[in-house]
Amino acid sequence: MEMAEKLRGKGVISGIAMGKIMLAGQNLDGYLINYKPLDKEGEKKKAKEALDAVAETLRKSIEKLQAQEMLEQAAIMEAHRMMVQDPALSDNIFSKVEVSGNAPDAVLKAAEEQAQIFEQMEDEYFAARAVDLRDVGKRIAKYILGVPEPELGEGAVILCGQEIEPSVIAGLPTDKIAGVILGAGSTTAHAVIIAKARAIPTIVGVGEGIAKIGDGDDVIIDGETGDILIRPSDEDRAGYNEKLKKQEELKAHYAALKDLPAVTTDGVRVELMANIGSHMDVDNAKTYGCEGVGLFRSEFVFMGRQDIPNEEDQFKAYKEAVEKCDGNLCVIRTMDIGGDKPLPYLNIPPEDNPFLGYRAVRISLKRKDLFMPQLKAILRAGVFGKAAIMVPMVINVSEFLRVKDLVAEAKVELAHEGKKYSDNVQVGIMVETPAAAVMTPVLAKYVDFFSIGTNDLVQYTLAVDRGNSNIAYLYNHFNPAVLRLIKLTIESARENNIWAGMCGEMASDPYAAVLLMGMGISELSMSAPSIPRVKEKLRAVSSIKAKDILADVMKMEDGDEIKAYLHKVLEPVK
Ligand code: PEP
Ligand code: MG
Repeated sequence: MEMAEKLRGKGVISGIAMGKIMLAGQNLDGYLINYKPLDKEGEKKKAKEALDAVAETLRKSIEKLQAQEMLEQAAIMEAHRMMVQDPALSDNIFSKVEVSGNAPDAVLKAAEEQAQIFEQMEDEYFAARAVDLRDVGKRIAKYILGVPEPELGEGAVILCGQEIEPSVIAGLPTDKIAGVILGAGSTTAHAVIIAKARAIPTIVGVGEGIAKIGDGDDVIIDGETGDILIRPSDEDRAGYNEKLKKQEELKAHYAALKDLPAVTTDGVRVELMANIGSHMDVDNAKTYGCEGVGLFRSEFVFMGRQDIPNEEDQFKAYKEAVEKCDGNLCVIRTMDIGGDKPLPYLNIPPEDNPFLGYRAVRISLKRKDLFMPQLKAILRAGVFGKAAIMVPMVINVSEFLRVKDLVAEAKVELAHEGKKYSDNVQVGIMVETPAAAVMTPVLAKYVDFFSIGTNDLVQYTLAVDRGNSNIAYLYNHFNPAVLRLIKLTIESARENNIWAGMCGEMASDPYAAVLLMGMGISELSMSAPSIPRVKEKLRAVSSIKAKDILADVMKMEDGDEIKAYLHKVLEPVK
């Protein structure tokens, strides 16, 4: 029997997919060779028409995505539209046509030149934008060359490419894409962001081996382990069918936990909430049994547009999320913009150290014109349920007090304008800098709650970039330095009768959840599909056992040792 060829990448979106490969990223060489250019003026006209046509197609698909509330994808397509309309690109194209007299060739070369500028940037986010620029260039060139779009057959395909253009994924219906394989390694590539929003099993970082995968090949991918089987044998197929069955059984098992509380065997309750990026995510999160929203990343309301959303636009988005929470709390984080999440229309110049730069509350406090409409929109949304304001990246008391003053000012303005607002909107902070964590005994006197943002807290405490795969082995939320800061934060909250929760990725680790419950945490907020696993773990232990485990852990000196210990003393996760 023939053996399957095996490859391994990094599984970034779990799930098993079986299907035929569709190679993404059409090669335009054949079309370019056969292309018959007109005179220079004619070619310039063609380039201009193509730029306008592609901008118009993008505009239509953005409208469609917005109507379907697919805001992240709309944001990506909007960024593409801005690239198409960037005079720097068109000027470069026209001057290249002047030399070569060939419009599609000029388009591809101009886009490539600009892509290379992005690629040289050290920041992974900006470097990943090179793919977007090449995507845009190819789209314009394809228009001029009259290249037809790839046709899909009956079943769903597994998209595969060294780099897949975001427009390829965004342009295909969800039920037509079973899986995604990328040769490149970036987890912040827009293709991956879109796949995540659609829960498509995805593997990245396959490297050069990706050349072994051909168009139409039968493959199986495991988005958990990163395994890829090319032309699997019947035996492989049977094995993975078994795994798929287990995956479905586990889904059904977890579904049965949906309406049960996260309560320990001795009655200690932890609230499990959802992290969302759009009000439309709430319905999906509720299917996993979330008890409200612990983190609404409001940046997404600001992305995918050409200008700042006004108070009314924001009010609509927040009101909808608050209403959908059915009386449970909806914590809206004020914009965490800047640094690695730039907004083109804010014109923030590039920085050497974006994670330590002009971002989040630092922008909010300088740009009252941006911040006041947001605060007012949240206060108004509070009328429709239970809302909270959460401030990101706080490093000292004075930042928080200034925010509190602005909240008071926003209420005065709303009263003057005769608009209804809630007086019961809690105002708290994310504890995501070591400075804030160390100062929690003081900050607790002023804030209504703490929510620990471990994604940043771990990187700032350990001086380990959260996106750098070379040092990922050091990025451990069980590092004793991190655990001490978390414990202090929870203790400070309890001593001052306020609540402490967590909305960083650590909250979705079931082993960490037991430890955090032992420390006395009240709430854990995570991407909704993780809720059942965490709930099951908490329901299986007592708080006494968790406290014993915590006492042992706090005596340990090493993060890896702590992790191994937790995996030893607690039942394995299904
Ligand atoms: C965090 O830092 O833990 C967090 C939740 O915020 P973000 O991941 O958006 O930085
Ligand atoms: Mg953060």
